[in-house]
Amino acid sequence: MSKQELQQAAKDHLWLHFTRMSTYAASDIPVIVSGDGCYLEDLDGKRYLDAMSGLFCVNIGYGFGEEIGDAAAAQMRELPFYINWTYAHPRSIELAAEVASVAPGDLNRVFFVSGGSEAVEAAWKLARQYHAARGERRWKVIARRLAYHGTTMGALSINGVAALKTPYEPLVPDAIHVHNTNRYHRPDGETEEQFTGFLLEDLEGAIEQAGPGTVAMVIMEPVQNSGGSYTPPRGYFAGVRELCDRHGILLCADEVITGWGRVGAWFASERYDIRPDLVTTAKGLSSSYGVIGGVVARDAVMEPFLEAKRMYMHGMTFGGHPVQCAVALKNIEIMKREEIVENVASNERSLQRSLGQLLDIPIVGDVRGAGYFWAVELVKDKGTKETFSAEECEWLLRDFLSPTLFERGLICRADDRGDPVVQISPPLVAGQAEFDEITRILGDVLAEAWDRYSKRP
Ligand code: PLP
Repeated sequence: MSKQELQQAAKDHLWLHFTRMSTYAASDIPVIVSGDGCYLEDLDGKRYLDAMSGLFCVNIGYGFGEEIGDAAAAQMRELPFYINWTYAHPRSIELAAEVASVAPGDLNRVFFVSGGSEAVEAAWKLARQYHAARGERRWKVIARRLAYHGTTMGALSINGVAALKTPYEPLVPDAIHVHNTNRYHRPDGETEEQFTGFLLEDLEGAIEQAGPGTVAMVIMEPVQNSGGSYTPPRGYFAGVRELCDRHGILLCADEVITGWGRVGAWFASERYDIRPDLVTTAKGLSSSYGVIGGVVARDAVMEPFLEAKRMYMHGMTFGGHPVQCAVALKNIEIMKREEIVENVASNERSLQRSLGQLLDIPIVGDVRGAGYFWAVELVKDKGTKETFSAEECEWLLRDFLSPTLFERGLICRADDRGDPVVQISPPLVAGQAEFDEITRILGDVLAEAWDRYSKRP
């Protein structure tokens, strides 16, 4: 198709995800045609630095298509498809073993699915059935406010983002939400220990109110994306683990974003010593070159399912698809060979220093995150941390920041599911040159945003 034909066909036939399609009534849909390293190119040949790794997912960057494509083609020739229902095939076995070898502790058993929402969905069902197998009827789930866990009905119910849920109510009942680790808006003078104490008290209260014997699972991202890279305060996850142990609740770390090097360890559960019973994964497992996710379970969670006649009553045709497994295996091989995880760990401070320069701009209230997973929170007043109204966010994020950043060649995400933030998550192959470019473009655009905002009538 020619450029014009592509535009027309996109407008006539393609339905974009989470997109106000009306935006494109009078303008072109951005069409990305190629990528290499940390950069993308559009239909007109314009280049962009992708400081979002697609959607927090192209961990090795865009430069390994040939090598991964060869692995996919070889698998296509050998065995293009077979199932993981009753039977297995070599690639799903090898990938499960590989995942188990890099996952912390005895997270040794992998159930493959097609993506993150399916992984969360599968984790909740697995937790329910695990308890049932041990003679307990537990079904409730505890998650955190504002957290995003996916869009299928179960995962959607677990979400803490009200606006995403209300159009689809009634949802799956009994998903309960507790405080997240948003530190920036806590009272001045509160110590880290006090903050941890406050969060754990809130979680304990929620468990008690729900009835501890009814709660199947607590699910949390090690670093929460929605709201802007909320890192856990000291002692937080040790306390969450202790509460789950005390009440017989399974702890699930949703590592759909934080897994596969994003925070400078293979899994963030290792960095923060979370010791989860379940881990949900997708995105970076294949660096999104393939369509694959999974739930990784501790040996102890598998145990009841090893008894005679018992099975986890869940599955889907494409779970553990051989071509997707071959792609994920090659991705992990590349990550090891190119020392991708080590690159993040050794560059984290440099990225933090670069982004830290943005704090000189009046509109930038906070810069926070870990590894290559950062957020810049925007405020009206640094002293009071006053945030923008919904109407102001509409102008600031949608009318100004998103289009201007894109026009200047930088892809990052302006998000106001919580307080307004700009999210920065470059591919894990990025280095100082990319950090400088991100900081320069973002700095210019944020300074301009403040200038325009302060001059608004
Ligand atoms: N869990 C987390 C933490 C996520 O960030 C996402 C997606 O961004 C999901 C689950 C859902 O993943 P998917 O979009 O692959 O269904």
